[in-house]
Amino acid sequence: MTIPFMDLQAQLRSLRPELDAAVARVLDTGHFVLGEEVEAFEKEFAAYCGARHAVAVNSGTAALHLALLAAGAGPGHEVITVPFTFVASVAAIWQTGARPVLVDIDPRTFTMDPARLEAAITPLTRAILPVHLYGQLAEMGPIMEIARRHGLAVIEDAAQAHGAAQDGRQAGTWGDFGCFSFYPTKNLGACGEGGLITTADDGAAATLRMLRDWGQREKYRHDIKGFNARMEGLQGAILRVKLRHLERWTEERRDRAALYDRLLSDAEVRAPWVRPGSRHVYHLYTVRAGRRDALREALAARGIGTGLHYPIPVHRQPAWAELAGTPDVPQTDAAASEVVSLPLYPEMPHEHVHRVAQAVIEAAGTVR
Ligand SMILES: *Cc1c(COP(=O)(O)O)cnc(C)c1O
Repeated sequence: MTIPFMDLQAQLRSLRPELDAAVARVLDTGHFVLGEEVEAFEKEFAAYCGARHAVAVNSGTAALHLALLAAGAGPGHEVITVPFTFVASVAAIWQTGARPVLVDIDPRTFTMDPARLEAAITPLTRAILPVHLYGQLAEMGPIMEIARRHGLAVIEDAAQAHGAAQDGRQAGTWGDFGCFSFYPTKNLGACGEGGLITTADDGAAATLRMLRDWGQREKYRHDIKGFNARMEGLQGAILRVKLRHLERWTEERRDRAALYDRLLSDAEVRAPWVRPGSRHVYHLYTVRAGRRDALREALAARGIGTGLHYPIPVHRQPAWAELAGTPDVPQTDAAASEVVSLPLYPEMPHEHVHRVAQAVIEAAGTVR
């Protein structure tokens, strides 16, 4: 018997009647792009985060791209982020014409190391884009302090951090913009693509609404150049259903993670470190292991699925040769060769957590 890395069908099965009714509502109205379901979802997600505005778009990447544009980033500018992330964090900067500048991570949290930030700021820097990797916030207190002192915008990549918080303040409400993804595997996932931007700035929210819809405020009058980045009505209706369950799912993730923490406390792998005051939402439960690849193979041989997030830092990707001159990022390189994500999803049976932990302990002992 095998243990999958995740099981999206488990969640869909339990919600099927609610989802069917939501889909039927959209089919009945025919409002397939934006419309009242998307508007209602924006209001409900803004309330969930404690954000003033929420602007729904058609992917997390579009959320980052449009937020960067609203922050004024463009050709001739630099935007600072990290190389230890999904490629979209960096690609969204490139999409604006600005140059991505990469700083190393804190090895405990795998998020932007604020101590490296100031040295990377130049007169061309326009914005800072921290990534809340694996479901834990980057160290936003120091990052915001540095950004304010230098007059820089902050765009949070919260694609993996729905409901995560630091000192009671949620992801998406620290920076000028919070960018969420509703890709199906995220903690809140659509049945397709989706994304959203949070902001407290009324003017920026209005600009984002235009940017996602060809720069128009009224039909066929284009005040600014924009894009087609509108959320679909079906996704809005589906996300409204799922949002009602998100807190329960998050607690179920945290419960499985706490069990892993306990079972792996004496193992040869390093369990995730949680900063004091941080609410980690465990998009991924990622451990560090000295002989990562051997451990992964040993788990696969026992029928246990794992994931690598991420094996190649962005500036070492073939497509991103222009970033190859990035100054040394030893913590990123070490993390890329040592991390492995264990199975975790809200419906995961506790029995499976026990079996995975046992397998890790046995395998890590033999591959040392
Ligand atoms: C998923 C993800 C994105 C991109 O979101 P999409 O909806 O797939 O475009 C951006 N950043 C991070 C950290 C992600 O995990």
